[in-house]
Amino acid sequence: MSYQIAVLKGDGIGPDVVDEALRVLDASGGPELTFSEYPSGANCFKQLGTPLPDDSVAACRQADAVLLGAMGLPDVRWPDGTEMRPQVDLRFLLDLYAGVRPIYLYHADHSPLKGYGVGEIDFVLLRENVEGLFASMNGGIQLRNETAVDSMVITRTGTQRIAKYAFELAQQRCAERADQSPGHVTCVDKANIFRSMAFFRQVFDEVATGYSQIDVSHAYVDAMAMYLVRQPEAYDVLVAENMFGDILSDLAAGLVGGLGMAPSADIGTDAAVFQPVHGTAPDIAGKGIANPVGTILSAAMMWRWLGHRHTDADALAAGERIEAAVRIVMAEKGATTPDLGGKMTTHELGSAIADACN
Ligand code: NAD
Repeated sequence: MSYQIAVLKGDGIGPDVVDEALRVLDASGGPELTFSEYPSGANCFKQLGTPLPDDSVAACRQADAVLLGAMGLPDVRWPDGTEMRPQVDLRFLLDLYAGVRPIYLYHADHSPLKGYGVGEIDFVLLRENVEGLFASMNGGIQLRNETAVDSMVITRTGTQRIAKYAFELAQQRCAERADQSPGHVTCVDKANIFRSMAFFRQVFDEVATGYSQIDVSHAYVDAMAMYLVRQPEAYDVLVAENMFGDILSDLAAGLVGGLGMAPSADIGTDAAVFQPVHGTAPDIAGKGIANPVGTILSAAMMWRWLGHRHTDADALAAGERIEAAVRIVMAEKGATTPDLGGKMTTHELGSAIADACN
């Protein structure tokens, strides 16, 4: 088995963290991978007049998977004041409806919370990726330089498929847990106030009836921001509308060491993009100190996705080797980049994880 991977490095720290993920993929010993790089991002806009050339999109459609760094720069904007965000456009173009964001504590020192050890924070935040408050992106209204409107769009089909994804993920996590404790899905919404959110909860509950072996709970998004800080161990899979998922995923990343530690996968029916949760970090770009772990763990998610999709045990094993290598390196006190108090460079940390794969 061999796979074609489209690589979109993007802007700022994107190229640095992707280079380390490529190094680790090479060391992970899975099936053959062929990497092809394509232009995209704010710098691409400056050079080519578009942040996401058609050829790059076509290559992403044809590839077996896409590995992406981060895109956008605060000073590169459209005339309406919004930023270039080709990574978000790609989700819509490829219909990558499930934003999968695992949150796992690799070292007690990484968390600002006291009393949590390795693996004691372990949940997945599932973000609906292509509707919600992002649906009107590019189509929001601004009237007479006086009024601006963006709309929340919740559809039955869109909610059904993300809810189904949440329950199947909870089933899979349950099967992989040593104690096989039951899976648990929490619907995060604002159903007390908004019709759109009451509908999201109604459709979620309809889907839940098909998964009686999975525990179900509901929480309002404002309360969830507090619960995640007070009792993150209570959660297994959380599912939320696009904007709520966007905000909570940064909060959740903060619980386990910050944005540098948070991987993600944007999954559709026919395509998938793997990228860290973080952005281009202009404040540290060019310094060689960005934490590559989120991107490296995203690469492990890519192996797992390819493995399940193609029933490829070698790809699954390569993903497990990367995760084990991250656990080994992170177990060492201070084996981190400066965002977590360490002194390693991006390249040193990437190399340590690549070495630990062997
Ligand atoms: P950001 O994630 O780039 O940075 C927020 C903070 O986290 C900064 O202090 C940064 O230094 C730190 N940080 C982020 N990643 C890190 C890493 N790997 N290692 C160490 N520290 C890290 O968010 P922002 O500052 O709000 O946005 C900067 C730019 O990135 C903007 O143009 C924004 O639109 C874009 N952005 C892109 C994506 C994406 O491509 N997926 C996501 C979010 C933001």
